[in-house]
Amino acid sequence: MFPDCRQKRIDLNTERKQTQKDKQRHAHVFQRSFGKFQVLGSLYCTCGIAFARMGLCCSETKEKTLGMLTHWKQFKRMLNRELTHLSEMSRSGNQVSEFISNTFLDKQNELELPCPMAKTRERKKRPHHQTQIEGQGTLTQISGVRKFSHSAGLQGSSISRFGVKTDQEDLLSKDLENINKWGLNIFRVAEHSHNRPLTCTMYTIFQERDLMNTFKIPTDTFVTFMMTLEAHYHSDVEYHNSLHAADVAQSTHILLSTPALDAVFTDLEILAAIFAAAIHDVDHPGVSNQFLINTNSELALMYNDESVLENHHLAVGFKLLQEDNCDIFQNLTKKERQSLRRMVIDMVLATDMSKHMSLLADLKTMVETKKVTSSGVLLLDNYTDKIQVMRNMVHCADLSNPTKSLDLYRQWTDRIMNEFSHQGDREREKGMEISPMCDKHTASVEKSQVGFIDYIVHPLWETWADLVHPDAQDILDTLEDNRNWYQSMIPQRPSPPFCTGDGEGDGEGGHRFQFELTLDDEQDGEMGVEECERGTEEGWSPVDQGGV
Ligand SMILES: [Zn+2]
Repeated sequence: MFPDCRQKRIDLNTERKQTQKDKQRHAHVFQRSFGKFQVLGSLYCTCGIAFARMGLCCSETKEKTLGMLTHWKQFKRMLNRELTHLSEMSRSGNQVSEFISNTFLDKQNELELPCPMAKTRERKKRPHHQTQIEGQGTLTQISGVRKFSHSAGLQGSSISRFGVKTDQEDLLSKDLENINKWGLNIFRVAEHSHNRPLTCTMYTIFQERDLMNTFKIPTDTFVTFMMTLEAHYHSDVEYHNSLHAADVAQSTHILLSTPALDAVFTDLEILAAIFAAAIHDVDHPGVSNQFLINTNSELALMYNDESVLENHHLAVGFKLLQEDNCDIFQNLTKKERQSLRRMVIDMVLATDMSKHMSLLADLKTMVETKKVTSSGVLLLDNYTDKIQVMRNMVHCADLSNPTKSLDLYRQWTDRIMNEFSHQGDREREKGMEISPMCDKHTASVEKSQVGFIDYIVHPLWETWADLVHPDAQDILDTLEDNRNWYQSMIPQRPSPPFCTGDGEGDGEGGHRFQFELTLDDEQDGEMGVEECERGTEEGWSPVDQGGV
């Protein structure tokens, strides 16, 4: 049952009733899938109402902006509240909620000046790190750009069939027959391409879309650039390597072809989206932005702690175009190059997970106000709307692992957990506090995936599915099945409240994560959190109230 704490205050007009009906439909679908998961239901409903309200007051830009801000704050406040609840349930719940909060909430603007007391405490707690600067050198050049020779895909003057040299071309060809399907097995593509999944996937996508001809990209230049780009992904990084880039590029390629977006994007926009996906994690060191900031790394200094990795991926990606025979955009006009660069920067910066909440808030607003043609295609008539869909599309592709078949999803999960635990090992060695989900002794894989889906992935994909309705229904079904599988795999043992310890892990790192709500708590005449909680306790629900 979903608590509905604001229903009584909302004066519905006809349009709003329709929106509410839609919300109710979604809630029922949602309830069927996650009947027992009241916490998320509550979050979803309350946000749904906020979003519905938002959708109605956005005829004027000013109101839209103000509404979006309110909307975003409400969303964030609700998520904070639900995560606090999750953190109180058990130690692993606490770790999952700390991870979600640290990763997906942007705290850049919420820092408080530490008081002298807090400063002293901080020093006592962490005596070792923050004193030395990692790495040496100056900030005068982009780090990570190296020279490579690329004879592997360029056999003399001829180009091999998929841009890569392989003695398993038939198997690779069979794998790449699925290039236009969500079910493509990118792990097998890597296996059959001598671990060049990005080059051969991009080559196949560009052939499929005829982009080489459209933009007059010389084939040898394309292969040289792709090999160079792929070589700048770290093969020793478990998750953020070229396999992930290939996966995100191929997923973006599929999302671009969704019927609801038919003929919406120009060739240049399509080129920008696929290129952005391909470069979006290049030279990723396998540690988080926060790790780079905490260790005073060169990169954090270079980018002033703001979207450190994402800025670096962009800088490296564009820098590589300047290498020998790498400029795949050489035959674009100046205006096209400028426009492409602007879009790529926008999309890659949006892959910073701390921007997730504001991206989702914008997407929700777009769904509530969407216009479609008689044939059901989305009407996006200005740059702002188009780029908003594009940055959400790449973000969705970046968060698409749980929407793939279970065998693929589980392989991705193993990889990300390994990458996290390596970061945790480095933090342990340095005497730093170990980041949430990075301690191999205490991280709960299954719980983290369920929390990740419930709080982040499902709300995002459900909104995307609303935007392109009904195109993404299969994706949503797979996501829900996978969520239930991980839920069923959570070890069943008693989980007493956090303060008594729940027996998980080895007892290390038993600190309690505290949320700090630093948002302005202006209510604008709306029901406050306390009032909302009272409503929940009274047992209001969308079903009882006849709406969400
Ligand atoms: Zn990524």
